[in-house]
Amino acid sequence: MDFPIKKTDAEWREILAAKGAERGAFEVTRQAHTERPFTGKYEEIWADGSYHCICCGNHLFDAGTKFDAGCGWPSFWKAVPGAITEITDRSHGMVRTEVVCSRCGAHLGHVFEDGPAPTGLRYCMNSASLEHQGN
Ligand SMILES: [Zn+2]
Repeated sequence: MDFPIKKTDAEWREILAAKGAERGAFEVTRQAHTERPFTGKYEEIWADGSYHCICCGNHLFDAGTKFDAGCGWPSFWKAVPGAITEITDRSHGMVRTEVVCSRCGAHLGHVFEDGPAPTGLRYCMNSASLEHQGN
């Protein structure tokens, strides 16, 4: 898959370090790792504002769509239109829908169909892939 923003692994590592990204952010965003549940800094944050891709700054979610799914990862019921790309993921013997940043291809997490109204969706994101910005 092709994304508008392309950088080498070394460049991404530098960008993430400069932003003070969470430990493991490179492995999560560029190698599709999953952080351990209940370890991310945004799991229990309910401040107003918006959530952006830690790699490229793309506006992904609004704080008003974040909800407590109890699963240990920041969860949202709606993404900003056009901000994410969904990919069928057949790893680990499961069929899931992977969610990546539409601008830089960063792995963000997965989307499941057990979320709350009005969408019924649960965007289960890695905290390390996100950057919160207040209003
Ligand atoms: Zn991005």
